Amino acid sequence: MGGLSYMLKIAQVNNRIRGFKVSEEESLGVSISHLQYADDTLVFCDAESEQLKHLRVIFILFEAISGLHINWGKSFIYPVNEVPEISPLANILGGNIGELPTTYLGMPLGAKSKSLSIWNSVVEKCEKKLIIQRLNTIRRNFLWQGNGEGEKKFHLVKWDVVISNKKEGGLGIKNLKSHNKSLLLKWLRRLATDDQSLWKDIIIARYGKEGPWTTKEVYTPYGVGLWRTIRNKWPRMWSNSVINVGNGRKTLFWNDIWVGQTPLRQQFPDIYILNQQKMATILEVRNEQGWNLTFRRFLNDWEVERMTQFYNTLEQDKNLTCEKDKLIWKLEKDGKFKVKSAYKLLDISIEIKELRSWKMIWKGKIPHKVACFTWLVARQYVLTQDNLMKRGRDLCSRCSFCESETETINHLFLHCKVTEKLWKYFINLRGITWTMPRNTAEVLACWNRDGNQTGHKEGRKIVPGSLLASGGQYGGREIRDVLRTRVSLSKALK
Ligand SMILES: [Zn+2]
Repeated sequence: MGGLSYMLKIAQVNNRIRGFKVSEEESLGVSISHLQYADDTLVFCDAESEQLKHLRVIFILFEAISGLHINWGKSFIYPVNEVPEISPLANILGGNIGELPTTYLGMPLGAKSKSLSIWNSVVEKCEKKLIIQRLNTIRRNFLWQGNGEGEKKFHLVKWDVVISNKKEGGLGIKNLKSHNKSLLLKWLRRLATDDQSLWKDIIIARYGKEGPWTTKEVYTPYGVGLWRTIRNKWPRMWSNSVINVGNGRKTLFWNDIWVGQTPLRQQFPDIYILNQQKMATILEVRNEQGWNLTFRRFLNDWEVERMTQFYNTLEQDKNLTCEKDKLIWKLEKDGKFKVKSAYKLLDISIEIKELRSWKMIWKGKIPHKVACFTWLVARQYVLTQDNLMKRGRDLCSRCSFCESETETINHLFLHCKVTEKLWKYFINLRGITWTMPRNTAEVLACWNRDGNQTGHKEGRKIVPGSLLASGGQYGGREIRDVLRTRVSLSKALK
């Protein structure tokens, strides 16, 4: 296939086949004669018999040299706009005559992007596959219900909290919206830093360049506005990048940040006004002797000191090298863009400040489901009787340990006289002075602080998790059963 591509390129260079121009502007003229995808080749040329004859020769040569065969039964010639005599042209080349719009790789090909009806199929596909809302519903149901059918279960925690990161007190499940955005940022990054590639040339030809790193902003709704959506995120990319100056070819002297923390035009606005090379790159204002800046008038006496200061600032920066200017992604130590750090940046975890020690739930060496249950208890999301009543169950809330008080999470897990015995047993075992806090979240916070009295670091993290989860059974009845066994066990141990 590479051979075919090469022959088509040569034919285009020699003007035997003319492709189509992406941009009407001559200077940006990217001209495409063909595109290849897997075993398919799409060739673009004018509706002229001469060009088709050349194409035919290329195909015959290609078959002869490569031993591959073109499947003419599956090959089509598609007239674009008005082509008065398509049949004689098709006879030169062979293959069938097709009609636009058609479908290629599941996408509409050759239809006007503004005609609404052609997008119906795409919209349907998106609805089926992509819409984040629907995906979230599926994920939500899976989290609380698993794969099982049966009885509808309570969704104990708000989705916003579930998708917040663990440090903020969430469950750290990926936020699809932010994840998608961080993947889109990657395309901006590739446009800025990749070497020559066809997709890049096409995008730049279509939308024009703004500075050395990106395209102009997109206002017109071309196609599905895909690039517009991506380009809108450029400020985010730019504000988290710095330029590492190499040869200075891609760095604007006044407008980019390359010496100090702000652009030079902000550091020295008075000198910027006097300068005549406002849009110059570093390379353009630098020669072997040093800086080559031109000003529109001679300096006044009182300006000399300021100018010296300006040149001193410039001297701090090292000399230009022969390497390319690089865009450094500030959020990674090695400066390389990573989707993971972009995700962190875009993540809009809701802040849950009640507890600073969420981390200890997840860092301790306890089984994951115990950690999850500890998290639920700390967040007060367990289905104790009072919570069931809030959700409309008709109950008379009475703690089933002591049968004298209301069954709340804090009572059941901390203050009930039955539970209290269990806590005391473990606390004595560890030799800690301990006053039971009011609620489950505080237990974790205090344990982090006061549990420090003993040397055993890992054990410190394990105990509250184990106590709160007590065996990792999630139903109220099971927890109570487990607690009862533990209490009788602790009595026996005494
Ligand atoms: Zn009780």
